[in-house]
Amino acid sequence: MSARILVVEDDDGIAELLTINLGREGMAVERCRDAESALRAIAREEPEAILLDLGLPGVDGLDLCRAVRRRSRTPILIVTSRREEEDKVRGLELGADDYVTKPFGVRELVARVKALLRRADPESPLTKMRVFGPLEIDTERKTAVLDGQPVDLTAMEYRLLELLSGAPGRVFSRGQILDQLKDDLDAPFERTIDSHLARLRRKLGDDARDPRFVDTVRGLGYRFKA
Ligand code: CA
Repeated sequence: MSARILVVEDDDGIAELLTINLGREGMAVERCRDAESALRAIAREEPEAILLDLGLPGVDGLDLCRAVRRRSRTPILIVTSRREEEDKVRGLELGADDYVTKPFGVRELVARVKALLRRADPESPLTKMRVFGPLEIDTERKTAVLDGQPVDLTAMEYRLLELLSGAPGRVFSRGQILDQLKDDLDAPFERTIDSHLARLRRKLGDDARDPRFVDTVRGLGYRFKA
């Protein structure tokens, strides 16, 4: 169960940045390059939120915004460049819920998307809680509970858990993990990742030979069990 987000963006780099970072938060991202395919995707299955680039090829983002509002209250976040300042205002008038300006900070953008989802459905646990059997991860409070007991994690152990559990089944190489977390590491080496992970696993009660949560994929890296 994950929030379905539709990203309407013709720029591949930005679309990928959004897909990766929202995916890490446990959201399922579908990407469309233009308004026509976005409308088809929305008709197929209503997303929980739409991230909308205004400068699209063909039918522009403002027209798409208007078309969506005619039929639903799906939250819309406009992702716009500075030169589209006036369009941003128009977008809000047409019923968009919020906007961010390119270039945007990834953390800010993720926070805005979560806020939109919360506003749309305050009861929804989708944006905050990840539940894996006896393990519950609260990505808002940045805490974890195992068998009903809080797990005492360091900031780095928590971030590792959040990263891996954001994409269950996906193998993260040590290099990829290092890339994501290096700003918070005193010693940015792959071996440091291994020792933080070993401590995280101990706290999760994971047996290295038959782990419940974090698998070692020999020669590749680590994987949160799906
Ligand atoms: Ca564009």
